[in-house]
Amino acid sequence: MTGANRGIGAAIAQGLAERGLTVVVGARDAASGEQTAQRLGGRAVPLDVTDDGSVRDAVARVEQWYGRVDVLVNNAGISGGHAGQLAGEADLAVMRAVFETNLFGVVRLTEACLPLLRKADGARVINVSSGTGSLAWQSDSSRAFASSQIALAYPASKAALNMLTVLYAKALAADGIAVIAVAPGACATDFAAALGLSLERTAEQGAAIAVHLATVPDSPTGAFLQDDGPVPW
Ligand code: NDP
Repeated sequence: MTGANRGIGAAIAQGLAERGLTVVVGARDAASGEQTAQRLGGRAVPLDVTDDGSVRDAVARVEQWYGRVDVLVNNAGISGGHAGQLAGEADLAVMRAVFETNLFGVVRLTEACLPLLRKADGARVINVSSGTGSLAWQSDSSRAFASSQIALAYPASKAALNMLTVLYAKALAADGIAVIAVAPGACATDFAAALGLSLERTAEQGAAIAVHLATVPDSPTGAFLQDDGPVPW
């Protein structure tokens, strides 16, 4: 899984390990990845989802160790901050950087993992999306999104991730691979703090839906889910 060294990713990794899964901790920072993996009894791989070589090397190691991937959790994500992604001052370099991680990073890693997902029985891909990527919610004027209301790239990247989830779910159904998007809800992580948000929901609470879907016997596919059920697309 990606971005497993801190925030919601670390909480997902912890939850999966507690349920008996062997977790491969993907982290850009090798040292913190190793620390997390040691704590969880798993293994670490250096992994930057924006880098073809890093993704290739990480997947090669997983193939060598385990020969298959049962669950791929695409958790790594960035907000890009507010500068350069507000209407009227959009900076394409900022917007491309957000898409590079939140969307293209998911494509890069999912494509690289496909041969290993196909070797597992009932594999699943869990994409950590966001309620801000819901077109239904964004166009509902009664629902205020604290910071993302006006930022362009982040919600757009998550809406695109949602579409990617539906398309992969259809494309991989014949292989028995489920593909699901999850909305963790606004949680108190570094991500939220950097946007000036003070939140009560914990990373563990945000991680619960991904942990559930990773381990539930019959996974839904092509769905966008939060704790209490479907999120409208
Ligand atoms: P954090 O900023 O706390 O953690 C982000 C994680 O992603 C870090 O481990 C970071 O690694 C990793 N990461 C960032 N860029 C890359 C990259 N290029 N390659 C590999 N790893 C990378 O964020 P959260 O835990 O809050 O967010 C996790 C996910 O949840 C994101 O996809 C986010 O969009 C989503 N989300 C978060 C919400 C929230 O309120 N917190 C709400 C809704 C969705 P490093 O330590 O190296 O920087």
